[in-house]
Amino acid sequence: MSCGVPRLASILFGCLLPIVGLAVVAGVLHGAAWGWAAAALGFLLLVIAQAKRLSVLSAWLDAPETAESPDARGAWGEVFLKLSRRLRHDARRIEDAEGALASFRNAMDAVPDGLVILNGHHQIQWSNRAAAVHLGIHLSRDHGAIIEQLVRKPGFAEYLDDPDTPAPLLLQSPAVRTRIYALRVVPLDEHNKLLVSLDVTDARRVEAMRSTFVANVSHELRTPLTVVSGFLEHFADDGAMSPEQRRYFTRLMSDQTARMLSLVDDLLMLSRLESEDAPATEEDVDMADLLAQLHSEAQSLNEGRHRIEVICEGPGLWGNRKEYHSAFGNLVSNAIRYTPAGGEIGIEWLVRDGAGVFQVRDSGVGIAAEHLPRLTERFYRVDRGRSRETGGTGLGLAIVKHILLRHQAVLRIESREGQGSTFRVEFPAWRLRPERAAGPRHGGEAIGMQGETG
Ligand code: ADP
Repeated sequence: MSCGVPRLASILFGCLLPIVGLAVVAGVLHGAAWGWAAAALGFLLLVIAQAKRLSVLSAWLDAPETAESPDARGAWGEVFLKLSRRLRHDARRIEDAEGALASFRNAMDAVPDGLVILNGHHQIQWSNRAAAVHLGIHLSRDHGAIIEQLVRKPGFAEYLDDPDTPAPLLLQSPAVRTRIYALRVVPLDEHNKLLVSLDVTDARRVEAMRSTFVANVSHELRTPLTVVSGFLEHFADDGAMSPEQRRYFTRLMSDQTARMLSLVDDLLMLSRLESEDAPATEEDVDMADLLAQLHSEAQSLNEGRHRIEVICEGPGLWGNRKEYHSAFGNLVSNAIRYTPAGGEIGIEWLVRDGAGVFQVRDSGVGIAAEHLPRLTERFYRVDRGRSRETGGTGLGLAIVKHILLRHQAVLRIESREGQGSTFRVEFPAWRLRPERAAGPRHGGEAIGMQGETG
């Protein structure tokens, strides 16, 4: 507004004054009629010139981005220049806004949760890529569609109408039935709502595993506790008990207590293994020494019931000795526990195709093929009674699996029901320490350390 007066003055002086001046001169020289005629002619020319400029402006405004701004002088030149500046400014702002919108869309598509914007009639206004996977909603196809017609789930329509419901609505994926999504509705404004879908499959699986685990542990502890508490009741009535009975009950109670202790020890070990990715320390483990220790422990557990053969051909092994001892010891003790008296057990350490192989062979009860994939699950047992009788906790192979994972080793199980089993652990070549292979008992030759024969 501040420059309105000078601009008006410039138009007056630039256009009107010459016409009025010409008309006055014509009037003075040739009379009033000539003066009016000159004025009329001047105004006519002025109107024609303005109309021409207007038509040029209108033509340019039809497609300002494709043509240069019209060339003009004076007030029109100023108008064209300002318009052209404003249009360029607006074009830049639109470009920026489009860029921001595209980035926002990309970001929303990258969000792993499904997002759907609904209007007051529950019509789909917008949705991201995850919504296509979770709910089968494709924006290009379903824009404007009513969501209840696409997501068919009892209670869904009511849930949309009452977004204050605290618990999310669970929905099975229409495409992959094993996946579960939690739906939530968030009001955006008076009419629009945002429907959010979250993949909760893994969380629910973990939750199911946790409650199964707690149930298993409780069950495992309850059995020996019931036995011990039953015996304690007998003790309370001690007049009725002979010294032999007392000794018998005391031994049974101490067996049950030992069982609980070994269960708690295994649980603590598992929890430690699960909470750390790698062993605290690693070292060169002398495998001849470790196998000798395993052999002597096997002999004392075995009590002469089996023939035990030990072969140590491999080099040293890089890793945590305590953990190796625990994993290999579990395999050896399983072989003894699941092999009837008179059977054969082999404990071997060798190199095969460049990999370090520790294996325990037995001629025991064997395992039917359908059980093999689940053996390393916590508390999974083929024969629950036999496992308990022999002091098993059902956690041994789960511990083995975790220890091997931390040492980048894999466990392979070959077994046939009634024909024995081989539990083979394969270590990557980089864990082998050939420099530790020295010693008269190795030397690339098989050594046989045989236990007692039953
Ligand atoms: P447990 O304490 O019950 O032995 P594990 O985790 O060590 O638990 O083993 C899981 C199950 O695998 C055992 O209950 C048993 O059924 C089976 N198993 C393990 N080792 C052997 C083996 N050498 N021979 C036969 N069955 C075995």
